[in-house]
Amino acid sequence: MFSEKELKREIIRVMKVLYERELISALGGNVSARMPNSKEIWITPSGIFKGDLHEEDLVKIDLEGNIIEGFMRPSIEWPLHVAIYKKRPDVNAVVHAHNPVTTGLAIAGIELEPITVEAVITLRKVPIVPYAYPGTDELAELVAKHIEGARALVLQNHGVIGVGYNLVEAETIVETLEEVALTQFVAMLASGKKKLRLIPYRDRELATRLYRM
Ligand code: 13P
Ligand code: ZN
Repeated sequence: MFSEKELKREIIRVMKVLYERELISALGGNVSARMPNSKEIWITPSGIFKGDLHEEDLVKIDLEGNIIEGFMRPSIEWPLHVAIYKKRPDVNAVVHAHNPVTTGLAIAGIELEPITVEAVITLRKVPIVPYAYPGTDELAELVAKHIEGARALVLQNHGVIGVGYNLVEAETIVETLEEVALTQFVAMLASGKKKLRLIPYRDRELATRLYRM
């Protein structure tokens, strides 16, 4: 079992990786995590440069948004983060990033397809959540509605969400989203087609049974 200190260190590490991979920008994106079964979460602060956060910048809140520890303002997206934890007891980490290619495809009305094994196994089905203004209860409600059974969501005209049992899982989802989106974009551009060669249906079925999806 890891400690709360390690959890906070891991949030900082994930934010750094997301920034270096250009999946979040100076002020965009946020990450939260909790110890399994906890009713309190650690979340990144709002409106602070995201490329160089420190453990003391993080804020601990309960599932109603009350601040338990920390000096900064929690991310404006805290309603969306807590909405996910309330709906999904299996989730202990939520990563929200602004993946440019994934977001761009959704804006063009294009959903991610089962084009690689990663897309099938890691992402599964990726719903697109209709647009709502960032930080609002409306967005949190829409996310809560779509997160059932999903590991990844695209927020229309905004960004993405990855969830997982831990931070590495949620981080992997967000990185895989961008990899699959970029590959799909290249395939569409190179072929000039919207209809692509997908992983055979038989293998998708097999993965579904193998991973109990
Ligand atoms: P915060 O800095 O408040 O986390 O907001 C960034 C963001 O991505 C809003 O959607
Ligand atoms: Zn955002």
